[in-house]
Amino acid sequence: MCGIWKSPKTTELSLEEWKSVIIKLKEWLGPFRVQLAGGEIFIRDDIFDLITFAAENNVLAGVVSNGTMLEGEKAERLIDTGLGYFDVSLDGINPETHDYIRGTKGVHEKALSVIRRVNELRKRKGSNLVMYAPVIVCGYNMNELIALVHFVENEGLDAVMFNPLGPACDADTRWWEKSDLWPKKADLDKLNRIIDRLISMKMEGARIINSVDQLHAMKAYFVDPSLRSADNCMVGMTNFLLSADGNIHLCFKMPPIGNHADTFAEVWALKRAQEVRMRIKGCTYECSPGNLPYRRNLAQEIRRYLSFK
Ligand code: SF4
Repeated sequence: MCGIWKSPKTTELSLEEWKSVIIKLKEWLGPFRVQLAGGEIFIRDDIFDLITFAAENNVLAGVVSNGTMLEGEKAERLIDTGLGYFDVSLDGINPETHDYIRGTKGVHEKALSVIRRVNELRKRKGSNLVMYAPVIVCGYNMNELIALVHFVENEGLDAVMFNPLGPACDADTRWWEKSDLWPKKADLDKLNRIIDRLISMKMEGARIINSVDQLHAMKAYFVDPSLRSADNCMVGMTNFLLSADGNIHLCFKMPPIGNHADTFAEVWALKRAQEVRMRIKGCTYECSPGNLPYRRNLAQEIRRYLSFK
């Protein structure tokens, strides 16, 4: 699901350095929201201290996890950190489906047990923690998408979030042609019908966080993933990213614009940052294409091309 483990190891910032990043951001922005992401974020045991520190400083933290490293008392520790959002990936209702997609036996059981434990604890403790179940939609799990919505509702989670299968960090162009998870042509009609059913469920009030437009866009995307979206990528326009080694990026596929030791407000306004934003506006790669609300037609494509001449 994630190719980051293939990258060369970097030296990660220490807990104290991350705390100072939080403080610097807060001094610049006031209260803000931070998404802590991996790889798998709970590989770091001091992540609990960092989330607690963020919450104590009025910074709302969210995490996405595969749910495999939160056994025993760690679930309780997590609730007590003051975390705002906790997403555990769930790619199938059947253990075999989830384990196959994730490439490891037994991970479905672990993810389910963490979801249930944290959910039970948040109710018992009256916590405001929001819990979503992100699902990667692909050919391999398409028959389980409806059941996943029912699961989320029966368990009392806040919502399910569907993300179409996209390229891994190290993917080739036309990666979908080599992916065994990509839906087969013969299955596309069925997948369309399933997504239509999700749209009806959403309109009837089911706990699906995607917009109806996103779900429609997903259908077009699975028919032709090479289609470009109508909107430019917006990454780096209102957020920025810090990599594990403390470099500041606007997009992880583009060179860093600064470092955690710099003054963030100055880095944000650098000419270098503006140049990267122009490259982002012209980017045709599209990391999560099926999530964009609609696709570009030819006239839009020409207008967009001319705007970057
Ligand atoms: S779509 Fe392009 S600019 Fe946006 S995050 Fe992906 S690679 Fe970066």
